Amino acid sequence: MAAAPVLRQLALLTAERDLELLEVQLLRAVQMLLRAREVFWLRMDRGTGRYSITKLHVNAGEAVVSPREDGRISQEPPYGWMERDWVEIVGAVTANTVLSAGAMVAGLRMYPLRTNDATLGYVLVREPQLVAEDASLGSVLEVSRNHYALLEENQRDKLTGLLNRKTFDDSISRLLRLIASALEHHPDDERRRLTRRGAARYWLAVADIDHFKRINDTLGHLYGDEVLLLLAQVMKRSFRHDDLLFRFGGEEFVIVIGAPDHGSAQIAFEKFRRNVESFIFPQVGQVTISLGATQIEQRFIPSALVGRADQALYHAKRNGRNCLHFFEQLTASGEVLATPQQGTVELF
Ligand code: GH3
Ligand code: MG
Ligand code: MG
Repeated sequence: MAAAPVLRQLALLTAERDLELLEVQLLRAVQMLLRAREVFWLRMDRGTGRYSITKLHVNAGEAVVSPREDGRISQEPPYGWMERDWVEIVGAVTANTVLSAGAMVAGLRMYPLRTNDATLGYVLVREPQLVAEDASLGSVLEVSRNHYALLEENQRDKLTGLLNRKTFDDSISRLLRLIASALEHHPDDERRRLTRRGAARYWLAVADIDHFKRINDTLGHLYGDEVLLLLAQVMKRSFRHDDLLFRFGGEEFVIVIGAPDHGSAQIAFEKFRRNVESFIFPQVGQVTISLGATQIEQRFIPSALVGRADQALYHAKRNGRNCLHFFEQLTASGEVLATPQQGTVELF
């Protein structure tokens, strides 16, 4: 392949500011370079067994991207709804802890994208028709890796590794668009996709550590930071792989989950609260959190959703702490005054 199209593809790649779109550009670049029938992008966390996989294949000369699929390898075989391909690929990569670039995995050629301290993901290629010069493929992979690592670093909080506040608006806006399009444009397919694991609705909670100042004041800031780090780990263990976990401010966290109804959302948030309550923090002992939650509805802008959850959190703080309250229930019972039009998308 001539150098110019490859450079153009690299330019497209580095122009991307969205991780998911960058993944697709990477797949396109590799597909163009090798004229492969199928190209996959696999991300995997060996610790939790979580992975996500995106596929690009060529159909009648057109590149078709399959939406990203998420899963966990500890799921019961045959991995629920997963395609057979996924089972083979994830299984093969999991079975091999050390895989070098160009190794064959489940009939695919595999190229890990690694930084000094982590494997970002794997590019897998089926039936390449061209043999790329190592230099061209190597450059595409290297530029992708550097840009990917940079974007990811920008989205994450340095201390806890959770998503940062900067990413919050984008994530919520995307979720709101997904809900809208599921209801309007693809009533069957998308709705089925959203409800696959029973999540047709989404919920947002703000969590704030109780009396966190005391920890800083009595033990020092370093212990405070350690609590934040450990709490983030309890949080990751408490929620599912496709839930969104943010460090929103100093000792404030935002959680976005899919759940079919209020009861299921309550169970999920309560589980987190109880996991924190029962965790023994070294030197510190018990730490508790208060939570305020609300349902994510399309008519609200992200800041209004946080505002509603914050009102419920404030109520939790004034009513004993170490508890969870839902905005909708508080307004229904009259404990919090609702201002229904505040923060809705419609201005008039
Ligand atoms: P409340 O139960 O009402 O939430 O009491 P609180 O003491 O937690 O009060 P508040 O939430 O207002 O206090 C937040 C404190 O968290 C203030 C600040 O000292 C501390 N803090 C904020 N960010 C950080 C951080 O990054 N590291 C550490 N160690 N402390 C932080
Ligand atoms: Mg606070
Ligand atoms: Mg606090």
